[in-house]
Amino acid sequence: MTKNNDPHDIEKNSGQRAASDVWEGLKALADGFAMTFKHLFRKPFTQEYPEYKRPLPERSRARIILTRDPDGGERCVACYLCSAACPVSCISMQSEEQNDGRRYAAWFRINFGRCIFCGLCEEACPTSAIQLTPDFETCNREILSLVYEKEDLLVDHGGKDREYNFYKHAGVVTKVGDKGTHAREKEPVDVKSNMP
Ligand code: SF4
Ligand code: SF4
Repeated sequence: MTKNNDPHDIEKNSGQRAASDVWEGLKALADGFAMTFKHLFRKPFTQEYPEYKRPLPERSRARIILTRDPDGGERCVACYLCSAACPVSCISMQSEEQNDGRRYAAWFRINFGRCIFCGLCEEACPTSAIQLTPDFETCNREILSLVYEKEDLLVDHGGKDREYNFYKHAGVVTKVGDKGTHAREKEPVDVKSNMP
């Protein structure tokens, strides 16, 4: 293939390209002005906040709660998984155990001043205890008031997952169930009965 190095042709081609660029630019400008002009005659669509609070989807990620199982018991078993999963280390707690083997958090603290509402704590939780809610109105100028204790976090319902009861599945002996009575759990085997 031979190149056309004729200076007249080169000049002509670059002139055509420049004209095409100018035309494209003018067209884009006209489109922009047309859109603006169209909106000049449309009724404004403004939602005034806080007068109007738009309902957010249930899975929106904002204020965190600690939920209860259907029997009213605290779901949190203080396993520290949410704390380990949290990328900004804003969850801390102390685990305790009741006489019936049921674990709970003696205290549970979330520093919302650091929380980035990523939802990883909720993903990590094996008991559906910790959940994010659409309640985003927690802003405050007092930074220390953003440190929520267990009493600020614990609610009287199951949140998004109302039916789940960890102790009905866990195989742990509590008031909720004895060995062999949990969901999909088999009767315990007496290993001595297998001895020769
Ligand atoms: S939402 Fe994210 S940043 Fe906030 S407490 Fe949970 S894991 Fe940590
Ligand atoms: S909220 Fe869930 S993940 Fe966090 S300690 Fe309690 S049971 Fe474990």
